[in-house]
Order: sequence, then structure tokens, then C-alpha cells
Amino acid sequence: MYWNNNVETISRKDLETLQLTKLKKTLQAASVTPFYKKVFTENNINIDAIKTLEHIKDLPFTTKNDLRLSYPDGMVAVPKKMVVRMHASSGTTGKSTVIFYTAKDISDWADLVARCMVATGATQDDVFQNMMGYGLFTGGLGLHYGAEMLGCMVIPSSSGNTLRQIQLIQDFETTIIHITPSYCLHMVEAIRAEGIDPYELTLKKAYLGAEPYSEATRKKIEEQCGIDAYNSYGLSEMNGPGVAFECTYKNGMHIWEDYYIVEIINPETGEVLQPGEEGELVLTHINREAMPILRYRTRDLTRIIPEPCQCGRTHYRIDRIKGRTDDMLIVSGVNVFPSQIETVLMKFPEIGNNYQIILDRENNLDRMHIKVELYSKLFHGDIKEIDHIKSKLKEALKALITINPRIDLLEPGSLPPSEGKAKRVFDNRML
Ligand code: ADP
Ligand code: ZN
Repeated sequence: MYWNNNVETISRKDLETLQLTKLKKTLQAASVTPFYKKVFTENNINIDAIKTLEHIKDLPFTTKNDLRLSYPDGMVAVPKKMVVRMHASSGTTGKSTVIFYTAKDISDWADLVARCMVATGATQDDVFQNMMGYGLFTGGLGLHYGAEMLGCMVIPSSSGNTLRQIQLIQDFETTIIHITPSYCLHMVEAIRAEGIDPYELTLKKAYLGAEPYSEATRKKIEEQCGIDAYNSYGLSEMNGPGVAFECTYKNGMHIWEDYYIVEIINPETGEVLQPGEEGELVLTHINREAMPILRYRTRDLTRIIPEPCQCGRTHYRIDRIKGRTDDMLIVSGVNVFPSQIETVLMKFPEIGNNYQIILDRENNLDRMHIKVELYSKLFHGDIKEIDHIKSKLKEALKALITINPRIDLLEPGSLPPSEGKAKRVFDNRML
């Protein structure tokens, strides 16, 4: 049931003691890096004065921009010869950032991933097909070593080449896939288009992560494939995948607090919020040699779920990521997250698995245009039916986001499929 019983069910009190010891060690390590040496001096930080976990608030935040400024190795805390690997973020919001790992960092990361997989009920009997991109992106290699450590048979298929992926699932009786939710939605369509019933396949679980998606999308994927889908959260600055993962209760992701100190802040003021309040996730990695990062502003919006989980793990859970602080769209003065629109779309059985949100400005007014594919079996081209679906969708969107978008319902397969992190929003207002 557990990969590491002692750590996963540790009492909160012992966990805090462990965190403090590890934090002190991390601060010591960070203090030798050119970046933190400067930060500590400029902010008059005396690391010996950090005597309780509360004192973490005295440290300044680290941002993505700090990582960019200290590119390539201004945050490295070990001699170069100890570094065995580097990865880079996907660069969704600008120049990508680089992360380095020692051999211990790599094996600790794998151990953490094995812990996540066991929490979902995975065992060495599973066949794990890893459809996340291999390479600089952490999604592929990140899960790979953890799955091997657990003893699964790993198929390192990487992303793309959908027909070959389906063939591999069939030939090697894959039981778990690791995939972005947008690619998974595309994959299901492709499986059906091949005349295969997804329920006839050996698939049991999907690990979905790397991009925001809604609960409605999870349900849709589960229903369409007859599997359990688990939410997986990670970011390269904090290793990659394996930071937080759902257990079999599928109700928030356990965030491994022996590796990370978790804070939620008000993104505007930087004030630390109480457990349960929604805000920006801030993480301190307290278990890394090559690149300790303190109070990292993830820009991801969530909340801590402080209530204990039925699985017995004592580490806090975080709620599904609502989006990034910089994902929020302001349309005619109304704040909208793409995930809210997705929630509405995915609840309609008539709607297919791919969509785009396009924003334009006409005569100084914001216009939202949503292009969505229809579900293949329901697409008959009957104008009346299409008009009816359109007006139901408009109503639902208006009720939720008070915006009246233009909606185009498209034939399945009209929009470009996503094989990795999907690009759904096209904001042309600043062009
Ligand atoms: P980049 O920041 O360039 O996209 P990464 O590849 O490291 O770099 O991606 C990490 C980011 O992906 C996270 O900060 C978060 O915004 C997003 N992400 C990862 N997993 C999830 C998830 N399960 N739900 C929502 N967003 C996620
Ligand atoms: Zn749990």
C-alpha cells in the first residue's frame, strides 16, 4: 500500500522536525551559490537565525526570472563534477530555465516517483507506457526511472506517433499510461477512429499532468476509456513530475513534505495565507544537492487541503491547479480562467475533445470566440441540432463567466491535435 511507510505516514510533528533539519541543511548549501550568496547579503539574511519553520517567511521569494538571470549555473551548489544531468522547463511562458541534478538527486527523484505510483495502486506487474516527451522536458525521464525502480515494465514511447502508441498498448498490454490530458483526449478519438473500443484494451490507469485541466475532463477521460485517471503535478524547478500526486481516493494531490515546504501566498501582496485558502503555491526544495531553490513562486493557483486523507498518508494534499496566475484572462473586465471554460465544454456529451479560445478586440471591445469540435458519433451536420447545442452552450457559459462568446461547432478533427502541452488560448488583442 505504501512505498515508504515510515515517511508517508509520519506524524505531523515529526514531519515538521524533519523539515526544519532539512531546511537548515538546504540553507547552508544554498549560501555557497553565487545567486543566494548575493540574495542573503543584500537582504541581511543570517541563516543561523532561522530556528523554526515559521522563520522561512524571512527569506525572500525566488522567481522564474531569478532562474533566468542566474542562467546557466548561478544557483548550482556543488562542484561541476558532481552534476550528472540537466533538464530544462518547457518554456511555456518565455525562455526556459535549466535545472541540474547530482546522482543522489536523480535517485531520490526516482524514489519519490515510485512513491507516487504506489499511492495509485501501481505494482511491478504493471506495464507503463510513458507518452510524455523524453529529452530536456522533465515529463518523460522523470517518471521513467521511478517506474523502473518500482519494477514496472516501462515502454519509453515518448509523445506523438499516435497510431504506434495504440499498437504498443495492444501488443504489450499496457496497463498505465502517462500522458498530458489534451493528448489523452486526442488519443481516445484516435482509438475509436481505428474501430477499437477503448474498454477492450488492457488500460487501467492514466497519469494526467503537465498542464491545467478540469475535473470534468478527468471524468470524461475515465468514462471514455474505462480507467482511473490520477492527477500528477510537478515542475522542472522542483525536479519535474512527482511533486504531488493523487492517491486512490482521487481527491487532491499529496504533496511530499519531506521534500518540499509548502506555502500558499496572496499573489499580489506576497502575504502567506492560511491552510485552505486559495492562492499561489510557493515551494522550497529541501532535499536537493545540486540546485537548492528557496521559496519558489510557482505561479500556480491552488489551496492546501489540510484535512487528513483516508489513505493514511499524513502529507498535505493540494487541490487541482486552477491555472497559472498569468493564465488568467481579463475579458471585458471579467476575470476568466481557461479551465472554467473547459469545465463547461467537457460537461456536454455532444462536445468532442478539442477546443480553442480566441480573443480579439473589435471597436475597442473584447470579443471571445470559442471553437469546439463535436463528438464524432453525434455529428450529423443537422443545422437545427447544431444550433440547439450552440444555444445551450452559450447559456451555460454566460451563467458561469457572464460573457457571451461566439461559438463555432466544428467537425471532429478540424482543430490541430495536441501531442504535449496544449495551446488552447490565442489572445490577439495585443497584436
Ligand atoms: P513550463 O513552466 O515552461 O511549462 P514545466 O515543463 O516545468 O515548465 O511545467 C511545469 C508547469 O506545468 C507547472 O508549473 C504547472 O503550471 C503545469 N502543470 C504541471 N502539472 C500540472 C497539473 N497536474 N495540473 C495543472 N498544471 C500542471
Ligand atoms: Zn490519500
